[in-house]
Amino acid sequence: MGDMGSVGSLLASLQSVTEITKGIISLRDTAMIQTKVAELNAVVLSAQQSALASQAEQAAMSRRIDALEKQIAEMEAWAAEKERYQLTDFGGGTFAYTLKPDMESGEPAHRICTNCFQNSQKSILQSSGQNHYSQDTYDCPACKTHFNFGNRNDPPALMAASSYDPLEP
Ligand SMILES: [Zn+2]
Repeated sequence: MGDMGSVGSLLASLQSVTEITKGIISLRDTAMIQTKVAELNAVVLSAQQSALASQAEQAAMSRRIDALEKQIAEMEAWAAEKERYQLTDFGGGTFAYTLKPDMESGEPAHRICTNCFQNSQKSILQSSGQNHYSQDTYDCPACKTHFNFGNRNDPPALMAASSYDPLEP
């Protein structure tokens, strides 16, 4: 930042003034000069402290700007990334985001978490097989949400259909 340089120059100038006043003392060691030099030194010291404080403030502002720029870059990257996806209905009121057609960019088909998506994060769901209702089950590695996709089909009633009677020998 350009202003940092000017503060640095100010500090250097003030340092020079200090050196000059020391020179005055050695040349004309009268009480009056000493008093004026002491006043001048106090002013210089105060100015130096202000300059240092200003430098610290500028450094803090610079860090804040860097953090905000990083945040904006992340938001822009997410805005572009989220445009690649669309909310997809897998049946039975179950949803995940999937790649839009022509947005694959060489990636295989995958589902991303609706919960993480709302929090501006992309998390690819991992399959964990099927449940008893013949739904495909997935888990989000980030937020740990468990998903069941597809219509819920009642499991075949094995016990009712069985002729096996445990009481018969
Ligand atoms: Zn998630």
